[in-house]
Amino acid sequence: MSSVITCDPCAVGVVNDDWTHLDMSCCCKPGEAHSDDCEAERMQASIVGTLESLGQLIHNGDADLPGYFDCILCSEIQCGGGHRFLTMRGE
Ligand SMILES: [Zn+2]
Ligand SMILES: [Zn+2]
Repeated sequence: MSSVITCDPCAVGVVNDDWTHLDMSCCCKPGEAHSDDCEAERMQASIVGTLESLGQLIHNGDADLPGYFDCILCSEIQCGGGHRFLTMRGE
């Protein structure tokens, strides 16, 4: 078992299966399909792909990292905080 660190919004996404915060980076017209180069769509596709390769994630509390880290899911650089998840898969 190993652990991975995500940023706060991604932790909400994993725990609640709620990725609506990604829509903030979507600038498609409301009511229309996402365009091929939509940032929000690409981000969600990449996150779902990473989630599939990680398998089931179990929330293990706040990571409380003191410095910068990369979110395992969205790859955004975060400063402090974060959430720790346990994964059954290897490194
Ligand atoms: Zn979009
Ligand atoms: Zn993230």
